[in-house]
Amino acid sequence: MTLMENIIKQLKNYLEMLKYSGLDVIEMVPHIQNSETVETQAGIQKEASPKENLLSLREVVIHCTQCSELAQTRKSVVFGAGNVRAQLVFVGEAPGHDEDFQGLPFVGQAGQLLTKIIESIGLTRQNVFICNVLKCRPPGNRNPLPEEIANCEPYLFKQLEIIQPKIICALGTFAAQTLLKTESSISSLRGKFHEFRGCKLICTFHPAYLLRNPEEKRKVWEDMKMIRAELSATTKMSSPHALIGDP
Ligand code: URA
Repeated sequence: MTLMENIIKQLKNYLEMLKYSGLDVIEMVPHIQNSETVETQAGIQKEASPKENLLSLREVVIHCTQCSELAQTRKSVVFGAGNVRAQLVFVGEAPGHDEDFQGLPFVGQAGQLLTKIIESIGLTRQNVFICNVLKCRPPGNRNPLPEEIANCEPYLFKQLEIIQPKIICALGTFAAQTLLKTESSISSLRGKFHEFRGCKLICTFHPAYLLRNPEEKRKVWEDMKMIRAELSATTKMSSPHALIGDP
């Protein structure tokens, strides 16, 4: 008998013993995911490279089933893609239909606009990292639920801790409110830098919102100019030498 078979047999005996002593319901305590449990699960190591650590984290995230509805309806888990040493990380809300289908963030219509926004400040998708608050598509593109955000945010925070960007750009309400732990509106949060765990965070309108409200593009351009100025005030941009995903 293997060790695993032995453990299963002992567990079965224990459960049967409980049943005979009158216990017929065992309450499950929900598994509380946090930054430490994610780090342990993924085997993240201080000495490992950001690429190694992100790939280890990805292994955990792609097998996550904490949000049972999302785990049952998703085609893929959209971990994020881009440069693991990026100085600039974009955080969106959640994958949509196209992202779920391809397993990559921001590849649909809103993604094409995001690509143009990135290029407007002289960068490419290979220079930056792009991810979402939720890694799975909410069915019918409904809004993420608070418990889904709570389940998934340790993954996002760990991604940011590994990449250590200089600037984070939160795209839209859900990313801004999740990262800044606020209920303030995106209109009141955009247009200035905030602090997030030692790096600068700027919020701007989500590209999908811009597709519906093109007159707001000017404000996003203002936000992008702030990012460009901040980045050019520092050293060289990250080169596309450390890519994961296929942006
Ligand atoms: N909208 C998002 O917030 N993220 C994506 O990846 C695509 C659309």
